[in-house]
Amino acid sequence: MPLYDFACRVCGRTFEALARMDAGQGVCACGGTAERLISVGRGYRADADWLPSVTAVVDKDSPAPHVRAFLAEPSRANYRRWLAGEKLRPLEPGEPRPGPALGPEIAREVRARFAARHPDA
Ligand SMILES: [Zn+2]
Repeated sequence: MPLYDFACRVCGRTFEALARMDAGQGVCACGGTAERLISVGRGYRADADWLPSVTAVVDKDSPAPHVRAFLAEPSRANYRRWLAGEKLRPLEPGEPRPGPALGPEIAREVRARFAARHPDA
């Protein structure tokens, strides 16, 4: 399914979502009905939810071509090139997020708190 832009009728939020090509409406996080917007096609919306989180980690002083290209035009193709250039890839569906592994003392604390909440477990 392709990605489309939607605008919520209730709260006014705009967001990207996967939708069937013939879907004229989507559902906003607030539960409101959202109208599908005419797609801009080659670029991302400047206010896409996730874009700030990406631009925050892009090394804006890097001379690397994949960085310059993405900063100049944050299109889907340039985003994929940036991911490849940084040796990153999107998570596969169901793949756990990489994060700091739980240290033994944290795991012990988690188990202790769980046991305190569930005395019969
Ligand atoms: Zn909404």
